[in-house]
Amino acid sequence: MPPRILYIAGYSRSGSTLLDMALAGSGRIASTGELTYLQDDAALPDRRCTCGAAYGACCRYAGWLAARPANEADLVRGIERRGNLRRLLTGTVAAEEARAYRAYAQGLFGHIGAATGAEIVVDSSKSARDAAGRPLALSLLAGLDVRILHLTRDPRHTMQSYVTRGSNWVLEGHRAPRPFETWRPILGWTMANRIARRLGQEFGAERYLHLKFEDVLADPASAFGRIGTFAGIDLGDVIDHVEASRPFFAGHMVGGNRARLRPQTIRPDTGAPARLPRAHALCLNVVARPLAREFGYG
Ligand SMILES: [Zn+2]
Repeated sequence: MPPRILYIAGYSRSGSTLLDMALAGSGRIASTGELTYLQDDAALPDRRCTCGAAYGACCRYAGWLAARPANEADLVRGIERRGNLRRLLTGTVAAEEARAYRAYAQGLFGHIGAATGAEIVVDSSKSARDAAGRPLALSLLAGLDVRILHLTRDPRHTMQSYVTRGSNWVLEGHRAPRPFETWRPILGWTMANRIARRLGQEFGAERYLHLKFEDVLADPASAFGRIGTFAGIDLGDVIDHVEASRPFFAGHMVGGNRARLRPQTIRPDTGAPARLPRAHALCLNVVARPLAREFGYG
């Protein structure tokens, strides 16, 4: 049986890269980043695993990638995309597609489990358009043991990050800026977090945990204690690591925030309010604030 999956759901710029790296501080957890994009990234010559190797030469992923059928990346995207959620929820995915997806997911997580010896694999592919249904597909179609860790961050801080720094993919030169680039995250935050919460209802209270990134920064020991209880693993070693302010390093992570390229520590939040252009703040207030309040953001 492949290892248990701790799936970090929610929207980007919510602290998932840092959390993913920190969890891998436990020797019993393998961190993978945005694993759903492994095959897409491996097909691009300029993208590399965080170990520094091209994916085709990475000691964790190369063996698995070499044996994959053609067009499997398209199959994965077709199953996991937001537009396919209804078919996943109603159990109407075609049997042939479901079988192929099961082979993909069982093979990938089985390979990572065998390569690392990890009991838990952290997959932080999150819940934006391309991967909104991934935790559901991994659970229902592939029969894997999935728990959803829904990580949120105050949308004002997420938005500030986009307004001041832009998209990760643009920053790394993988695509040109799109129209309304700094506006899209307002709707993106709302949709991704609404979907993550909806899937949480589907998974039930034992397999869904909502965690605010602000709570991780305010009291890391308590937050990691909650994650450990939820995931069924003792995270005492991670808590010691955080409390000693020792840096975390990305091992073999796919995609994600540029923070993965540098050692990271978890530092207390300064509590500084987000600064947004007035028009962005007004738009966010209308679109995202009602849901944000439900998550406990004032
Ligand atoms: Zn690697």
